[in-house]
Amino acid sequence: MESSNFANTNVSSNVVKSTYSSRQIVSDEIISINKETHSEALIALTAGFPSDSLTEEEIEAKVVSVVGGIEQINYILIRNHIITKWRDNVSNWVTKDTFVDVIPERFSDLLDSAYHYLLSHGYINFGVALAIKDRILAKPSKGRVIIIGAGLAGLAAARQLMSFGFEAIVLEGRNRAGGRVYTKKMEGGNTVAAADLGGSVLTGTLGNPLGFLAQQLSYTLHKVRDQCPLYRADGKQAQARNLSGCCSWSGIRGFTRGFWCCDD
Ligand SMILES: Cc1cc2nc3c(=O)[nH]c(=O)nc-3n(C[C@H](O)[C@H](O)[C@H](O)COP(=O)(O)OP(=O)(O)OC[C@H]3O[C@@H](n4cnc5c(N)ncnc54)[C@H](O)[C@@H]3O)c2cc1C
Repeated sequence: MESSNFANTNVSSNVVKSTYSSRQIVSDEIISINKETHSEALIALTAGFPSDSLTEEEIEAKVVSVVGGIEQINYILIRNHIITKWRDNVSNWVTKDTFVDVIPERFSDLLDSAYHYLLSHGYINFGVALAIKDRILAKPSKGRVIIIGAGLAGLAAARQLMSFGFEAIVLEGRNRAGGRVYTKKMEGGNTVAAADLGGSVLTGTLGNPLGFLAQQLSYTLHKVRDQCPLYRADGKQAQARNLSGCCSWSGIRGFTRGFWCCDD
């Protein structure tokens, strides 16, 4: 677990506040970014953003000066566009400058607001890609945060805090990181194998942050197939009973996960 000092010069000090500036855009104009507003709204939906309203968290962060109305519509269009742009290549660090050509100057306050909100709340530019790690510098500029538990949540929180310029110290009760994710390596005879004793399946890849980490690490994802045999302790394959009536199948966003009923 990395717990050394990090700071990010590219994350400005107002990132953590993510509050819309008091300068209000007085305009009836709805911004035209591109023709993909519908598909960008669908992508934002997979990140948990409703297509035509703000989340409670955005309202609390005061991303717009007035909730409702044209300013909010424009903010949503810009926010959806930024998310989509980062999702195009999650191994990149998307900068605000990326958008100056497509978002007119008069909407720069909304661009600031949306970009800082998404960055500070971990919707863009997160993970383990080199371009993202490179933004983390050796000396933290902010305070020290102690995180209890080196499971997925603790490790992700530590990394995110480090990218904001905090020093993160992770305290773990066990003698290993990973928490409920644990791959056990086994050797016997001439055979080496590994088995996941905890979390192992990404249930859905659309918007799943673990799916982005897999992309950043260039890991190949394998489908959990319809044919997913279970093995008994003696290494023999368990025989499936008459599957109708006792098994359920669920296809979830590209993944098919089979639940087998076995007679032993
Ligand atoms: C058998 C199994 C199969 C699973 N399969 C899947 C799957 O296929 N797909 C999926 O998405 N999810 C799966 N999950 C769930 C997934 O593993 C968890 O949701 C996820 O790992 C939880 O991460 P976490 O960081 O929130 O908590 P944890 O992984 O539980 O991490 C918490 C960490 O905090 C430490 N800790 C707790 N209290 C203290 C303390 N007081 N001081 C110091 N350290 C402390 C613990 O030791 C632990 O390391 C599975 C879970 C199990 C058990």
